[in-house]
Amino acid sequence: MRPDIPSVSLYGVPFSKLNFSQTVDRLVRFVEEKEPTQVVTANPIMLMAALDDPAYMDMMLRADIIVPDGAGVVWATKYIGKPVAEKVAGIELMHELIRIGEQRGWKVYLLGTAPDTIEVAAAKLKERYPKAILAGYRDGYFKSDQDRKVIEEIRQAAPDLLFVGRGADTQEPWIDRYKEALGVPLVMGVGGSLDILAGKLKRAPGWMIKLRLEWFYRLAKEPTRFKRMLVLPKFAMKVMRDKENLK
Ligand code: UDP
Repeated sequence: MRPDIPSVSLYGVPFSKLNFSQTVDRLVRFVEEKEPTQVVTANPIMLMAALDDPAYMDMMLRADIIVPDGAGVVWATKYIGKPVAEKVAGIELMHELIRIGEQRGWKVYLLGTAPDTIEVAAAKLKERYPKAILAGYRDGYFKSDQDRKVIEEIRQAAPDLLFVGRGADTQEPWIDRYKEALGVPLVMGVGGSLDILAGKLKRAPGWMIKLRLEWFYRLAKEPTRFKRMLVLPKFAMKVMRDKENLK
């Protein structure tokens, strides 16, 4: 986490205390500074992964900013008396950055999801943001022996913004490993957001987001997430048990 960003630590993982618009301002500065940066939008599943796996924790600690993208994280920081400002959703950051980039002439690259879906996502991006400059796109189903080729393609395209939607276990370590080689000013893991942009997945309705039930909507739509989501009650129990030590 960049030292100028106020943060609250949850089990050693620093979460940004900036609200949505302050986060956007800081990310705009990242882009303007032109140094490679990694934005992590983290939920409790990722936090628990960091506690399980030291390599994942190190990756989180190297990130330039970790934003609280999960009702569970917002709740936990409130519960221990050190609240973050609000949930800062990765998908909303992605749209806002594309919108600002449209005015500033930034180039966007989309990397992730299945080949047919990423094509639709790219078309939708052009439709919603006609002035946006799409530097390129590519699906997210490639093996590590293709990393070099993918990185070369992205370097050639020289985007200002790179959104990677490959699933949190793959995308974050991948970005961390290659951010210097990629040389992109702002790289952000966006998980299923490219599927949502393509219209293949729907985001939860507004009332559910307000009630902090987005996780439930995703579970209902993708029941295969059940096993992964069992970590959520485990996380809540852990925070309640450790409340005094976390303060
Ligand atoms: N995905 C990908 N390459 C992979 C694995 C997943 O591009 O090797 C894409 C997948 O198609 C989906 C996105 O990554 O669009 C998010 O995947 P998932 O829901 O499994 O991850 P999560 O968001 O839960 O971390």
